[in-house]
Amino acid sequence: MACPDVKERPLKIYFIPFLAAGHIIPLSDIARLFASHGHNVTIITTPSNAKILHRSISTNFHVHTIQFPFQEVGLPHGIENLSDATDLANLGKVFEATKLLQGHMEHFVEQHPPDCVVADFLYPWVHDLANQLGIPRLAFNGFPLFAVCAMEALKQHPISAAASSHSYIIPGFPHHITMNAAPPKQIMEALQPLLDLELKSFGLIVNNFEELDGQEYIKHYEKTSGHKAWHLGPASFVRETTLDKAERGINSVVSVHECLSWLDSKRDNSVLYICFGSLCQFPDNQLHEIACGIEASGHGFIWVVPEKKGKEDESDEAKEKWLPKGFEERNKMKGMIIRGWAPQVLILDHPAVGAFLTHCGWNSTVEAVSAGVPMITWPVHGEQFFNEKLITEVRRIGVELGAGEWSPMGFGERKKLICREQIEKAVRRLMDGGDEAQEIKQRAQEFGKKAREAVQQGGSSHNNLTALIDELKRLRDSN
Ligand code: UDP
Repeated sequence: MACPDVKERPLKIYFIPFLAAGHIIPLSDIARLFASHGHNVTIITTPSNAKILHRSISTNFHVHTIQFPFQEVGLPHGIENLSDATDLANLGKVFEATKLLQGHMEHFVEQHPPDCVVADFLYPWVHDLANQLGIPRLAFNGFPLFAVCAMEALKQHPISAAASSHSYIIPGFPHHITMNAAPPKQIMEALQPLLDLELKSFGLIVNNFEELDGQEYIKHYEKTSGHKAWHLGPASFVRETTLDKAERGINSVVSVHECLSWLDSKRDNSVLYICFGSLCQFPDNQLHEIACGIEASGHGFIWVVPEKKGKEDESDEAKEKWLPKGFEERNKMKGMIIRGWAPQVLILDHPAVGAFLTHCGWNSTVEAVSAGVPMITWPVHGEQFFNEKLITEVRRIGVELGAGEWSPMGFGERKKLICREQIEKAVRRLMDGGDEAQEIKQRAQEFGKKAREAVQQGGSSHNNLTALIDELKRLRDSN
């Protein structure tokens, strides 16, 4: 069907997402937004990552695949993105492989130049490529603007090593935000040149809506960086049907029917949803504390635990040493453990879900906000500690669990154990009822309403998308 927005020639836009579920999912949903306005989009990725996108394909939504260099980096077949890697060595190899993709990707783009390229900031080489072709580049990093502003602030006013071991205030910020954890030095050093290069792009695409980041941070960003951010989200709303939402990302290990009918049998707001995204893997002693904490809270739960790839001859029991004896028997009526990938957006959308214990990955956060679900925050790595502050202190739609250890990655050694009492206390704070919990829930629902309005005709994200498309057409046609 011809789309009313495309009065003239549609735009041809390439999207190059980084190879991690938390980057591919939102960027491909954003690509679909452009496609839904009648423009021709192509996602450039590798074969197994292309399978994640399979359902998204429509006549103006294309996927161009480039072979993943398994042999060159020494990875077994099947590990083709960061979310598949379960140890640091493989994680490093996936990064290595993404570098090897550069030449092939460049070749494809040069041979069939688009009107615009939208690329993950982890692909800095797209900057030169876009310049050489004389086309605009839009950057994407998967963070909310609030976190980008926080990182920029720390770049401009670095905190001393001494201060970073205590609490510190984010310098020059619209709100007085006290941080209890500092990003690992090596992560900031790796990110800073990429963030600098991002500022040289035509604009930054943000999977958020203006009302959640807030005008104060949009203005702060424009003023301190001189750069333009385009809030186009929440992108997950582009998926409307249950099937489409269920097949977002990797196929779920539980049937959607089983999951939803289990939730249907529960009272509204009675179930805690627990998931730490696609990368985070806690050690056994931490999983054990989570199990004890949620059981002690007495609340119903759905808990997503990444599948453990133990030794082949290891029994299921040995692989799951962390599970307290008799846990599943005792909690048969109350709880469900999903070992592997869950249909997260559908779960969050269900009225039985009363709160979300989250690692504050930005996609998970904005999905919870879209569903009006308040959060219990347990950040682990990346920009998640900044996201936590936006949720708990700025918008006050969640409570902090009290995590203070900023890991370099989502897995590996951890110094601190979050104990069961801390987990139980935070769950009760939001799930036991009471005035504070009520107020937080109400605010979360108001933001859920604002999120839905943002993507509708006349809403902030809808308007931004139309303005960005107009701007890109103007640029193309002026050349
Ligand atoms: N996700 C999911 N099922 C799972 C785990 C994750 O659908 O069992 C999706 C989730 O909905 C989100 C993405 O994977 O869209 C994770 O992104 P996020 O930014 O929250 O965290 P990351 O994985 O990047 O740490």
